Amino acid sequence: MSKAQNYINGKWVDGSLGTMDMINPSHDTVIGQIARSDDRDVDAAVAAARAAFEGVWGQTPAFERGRLLQKAAQKLFEHAEELARIESADAGKPLSQARADAQLVARYFEFYAGAADKLHGETIPYQNGFTVYTTREPYGVTGHIIPWNYPLQMTGRTLAPALAAGNATVLKPAEDACLAIVRLFELLDEVGFPAGSINLVTGRGDEAGAALSKNRDIDHLAFTGSPEVGTLVMETMAKNLRPVVLELGGKSPQIVFEDADLDAALPVIVKAIIQNAGQTCSAGSRLLVHESLHDRVVAGLVERFNAIKVGPAETDPDIGPIISKKQLSRVTSLVDMAVKNGAEILAQAARPDGEGYFYPPTLLGAIDNNHDVAQKEVFGPVLVVIPFSDEAEALHLANNVPYGLVAAVWTRDNGRAHRMVKGIRAGQVFVNGYGAGGGVELPFGGMKQSGFGREKGFEALHHVTTTKTVIINHG
Ligand code: NAP
Ligand code: MG
Repeated sequence: MSKAQNYINGKWVDGSLGTMDMINPSHDTVIGQIARSDDRDVDAAVAAARAAFEGVWGQTPAFERGRLLQKAAQKLFEHAEELARIESADAGKPLSQARADAQLVARYFEFYAGAADKLHGETIPYQNGFTVYTTREPYGVTGHIIPWNYPLQMTGRTLAPALAAGNATVLKPAEDACLAIVRLFELLDEVGFPAGSINLVTGRGDEAGAALSKNRDIDHLAFTGSPEVGTLVMETMAKNLRPVVLELGGKSPQIVFEDADLDAALPVIVKAIIQNAGQTCSAGSRLLVHESLHDRVVAGLVERFNAIKVGPAETDPDIGPIISKKQLSRVTSLVDMAVKNGAEILAQAARPDGEGYFYPPTLLGAIDNNHDVAQKEVFGPVLVVIPFSDEAEALHLANNVPYGLVAAVWTRDNGRAHRMVKGIRAGQVFVNGYGAGGGVELPFGGMKQSGFGREKGFEALHHVTTTKTVIINHG
């Protein structure tokens, strides 16, 4: 059992508000506790990070930061199975998905370990008698607030680049799933990060989370979560005039043209909506299909949806439970409302018995694009099918939502693929494939209400650093 404590300044310490229970959503049982924290704990963590940045961590050369991250990656690869099992129980992830996530958190540390000493500035031609160069400098103390849907992955994705660039970090994970993160910090502690360079403060969003965004001594905040809380966090950061990176939700379209390879497309379309029970910001939750293929595509999906196995995470089903009772009732009410308004349930897999918060994969048809279920992020395994008649209508439907995170175009026509890629307003566009966010190497983030700034890839390093331009007049 992991510690129910915060990790501050290289030590495990109790939270000011005691502890809170962690639930296994596959069985509705308590499986552990975490520290419940408030501004006292957050302020201590930020102060420790500040001291580290101004002390040992700030003096650590880039190649040594890289070595530490590489050691962390090794450690995480070695403990991947253990981390996967904790995450699977805590977040309700089917074991094989949790295993993939545990590999990915290690990959983030590995990727940014290699980047740490390759982040350099430029020399800029200027007037005679001057030498001008830029350096990329860490912000200083960076705050990180992440959601419950991919606790391990999100931790790697947000912390590894910040640390590679030399920032001292404070992480506040989501209260609904963070036991694997606590274990991860135990492992990072063994790796030997200098005290204060990595800090973990757990607890509720309105207590620990709000305290982190309000703290006047953080220099930058990376927030991943809902647009509603993203707005709150940004308002608070605005008061302190501090920058934010916001990674918010999505309502990502899969666009299937009449010349698409359906044998390739259908399994990917199914996976893109059932992965993590649809609780993925980049879930492919809208299927736009050419009217000539509509019936064939629906028939193929109905067959596949009916065969999906839903069950407790440890049995490694195709999909596990929804994270919480609250989220389950949100998904249920969005679908019920859609049906009341005329949507048709084309397929719905069987819901297993038991106390878990299961929602069966659901395919909805007869949907108007303006309806809530076609516009709002359901965050469940719910796919809406909307037919289109030509390329212009497909593009209009694809862009006619508040979000712009990911999209996929399925076609054998190269010209059409390029035209669609150019027209789609989304941070990532796949052609004849879908990777629910893509690999660690690929810049990722939103347009429109999906947020701004980029994580992943080398580009993430530009969002956790700031440029200093040095102008030397040497005559
Ligand atoms: P959420 O409610 O916005 O919570 C996100 C984080 O913010 C959690 O750690 C939460 O803590 C914290 N929080 C809550 N209230 C806060 C406040 N007043 N001040 C500061 N922090 C606060 O989102 P969620 O329900 O956990 O996650 C689902 C959302 O995340 C979806 O919209 C999804 O699309 C989005 N998401 C986006 C990406 C991306 O990369 N674009 C990736 C994954 C998820 P508590 O949970 O403890 O309350
Ligand atoms: Mg849990």
